Amino acid sequence: MINLVLFGPPGAGKGTQSEKLIKKYGFVHISTGDMFRWHTKNDTPLGKKVKEIMNSGALVPDEITISMLKEKLDKNPDANGFLFDGFPRTVAQAEALDKFMANNNTAIHFVIALDVNEKELRERIEKRRSIENRADDEEDKLNKRITEYFSKTIHVLPFYEKQGRLNTINGIGDIENIFNEISSVIDKK
Ligand code: AMP
Repeated sequence: MINLVLFGPPGAGKGTQSEKLIKKYGFVHISTGDMFRWHTKNDTPLGKKVKEIMNSGALVPDEITISMLKEKLDKNPDANGFLFDGFPRTVAQAEALDKFMANNNTAIHFVIALDVNEKELRERIEKRRSIENRADDEEDKLNKRITEYFSKTIHVLPFYEKQGRLNTINGIGDIENIFNEISSVIDKK
């Protein structure tokens, strides 16, 4: 069983690469962004709670995010490997994730960070906005999401780096080439 975190700022290509990795390796995909979007779309109590926060581009508080994640993991006891996409986004989340994994006698084996500069991220999200019409891709919300990334989420990188679990990959270029690079990191294990 291999568990992997795919890490990167909004627009880095996590969603695209996740889809390809799931097809190839059969990971159970855990995207907290997709989970929150499902709740807001279906107007669940959790969805009602996080809608405003998400629409502002801010991060949902750790307690809410971590308990939603735990519930999802508990529902998949037989998974043959998880791919975490958009989680963890804070050091507290990274620590909680390690605990959940340890409780299930497993671990996060490695973290793949997609490195994409801010100018490229903005261009990609502008393109995505015209296709997917995501409310949080609008410019003021996008600014907030990028600020959240560079003020809170980026600190997760040294957390994993210190433990030798971080693999940084250039996230700019051909999708297939990026995918092959990620695959070669996984295949080495
Ligand atoms: P994403 O699709 O991963 O960019 O997530 C969309 C939005 O969901 C984010 O801007 C946050 O408001 C919320 N969200 C998703 N994952 C997390 C997380 N791990 N921690 C806090 N908020 C999150």
